Amino acid sequence: MPISSSTTDAPRFMASTWHKRTPSLRQPLSWLAYKLMYKGQQEKRMGKVPVLSGSLSHTFMVPRALVSLVLLPILIRHFTPYLPSFILFFPAPLLPVLLFTFAYNLIGITILLLINRLCDTYGFFDGAVKRDVIPDAKLNETMLGVVLLTVLRPVVGTMMLWNDWETKGAASGWDLTQWGWWAMGLPFRLLICSVVMDFWFYVSHRSMHEIPWLWKFHKVVRFAVSLSLPTRELTDNSLFSASHGEASLPTMSAFGDWEHNFLDSFVIPGLTLITYKVDFGTWWFSALYTLFNESASHSGVRVLWRAPIGGWVLSLLGMDQCTEDHELHHRLGWRKSFNYGKQTRIWDTIFGTKGERLETKEEYLQL
Ligand SMILES: [Zn+2]
Repeated sequence: MPISSSTTDAPRFMASTWHKRTPSLRQPLSWLAYKLMYKGQQEKRMGKVPVLSGSLSHTFMVPRALVSLVLLPILIRHFTPYLPSFILFFPAPLLPVLLFTFAYNLIGITILLLINRLCDTYGFFDGAVKRDVIPDAKLNETMLGVVLLTVLRPVVGTMMLWNDWETKGAASGWDLTQWGWWAMGLPFRLLICSVVMDFWFYVSHRSMHEIPWLWKFHKVVRFAVSLSLPTRELTDNSLFSASHGEASLPTMSAFGDWEHNFLDSFVIPGLTLITYKVDFGTWWFSALYTLFNESASHSGVRVLWRAPIGGWVLSLLGMDQCTEDHELHHRLGWRKSFNYGKQTRIWDTIFGTKGERLETKEEYLQL
């Protein structure tokens, strides 16, 4: 039986047909991919590159983060007395872990749907090059990586920080003045979180690009990133050589080896919390904004869209990160790439690995 592929010259193992038919619910991972991954047209867009303001990101994210942070604890306090007593003996706060993990995933889905819409409206960078799609043979593995990432992160954060947050809040009687002070300091704490996390990400990411035995864990991810969100992903990976010179779509950030997924979902967030321990509420905002920016920066959407945390301030120093920066990172591989940061370009500037923007140079922007 002939196997068709969206990539005309792709070898057989690269065939990608899953997005052409609705899978049954008996294949939950394929169904999830079909519903969430970008399936629109990839037309070449001309003209100046639009600029998306940071207020769009905040208008989208703040209500979601705030409503869940206020509403879920009320539900948790209400339902905890009705839980069977054995649940109280679990080492983790079970109800908070379940509810915040559910909310994280729900909000993640709305982020993906927003980005898919923006991709339809604005198209992709380097539009003449067709973007990659996940091959059928790698679909389940990719989606399992997505699920692992979106479950591990909220589980770990809630386990580490929830009890402290709840105890301190209860002790203060959920005093509104205290909330006001907390909210005023939030942007500052989020910026520190972002910079600290980006440091650990920079170190691990650059190491994988420069230390031979680590590259094997990263090259698959790079290929994957390019396949799920409308991310462009070029690889120096002979296994996936068909993706050379091509681009990827928005969900690929989670496609990779288990070791890599574990690093991204557990080790880097854990190191960030050890280096800069924040309260649960700040962590919740930070985790959601990180997911937002990771999805945007892997989408390849043809706009100047800065990472929302500190983006405007950092742009004055030339250290902001926008969608094109990570896109350009994916076009080069082993020991040739640049822009290793994922939230900012602070560490790339300090360590001399900042790359030049191509399509989002000042003179090409629709201001
Ligand atoms: Zn990389």
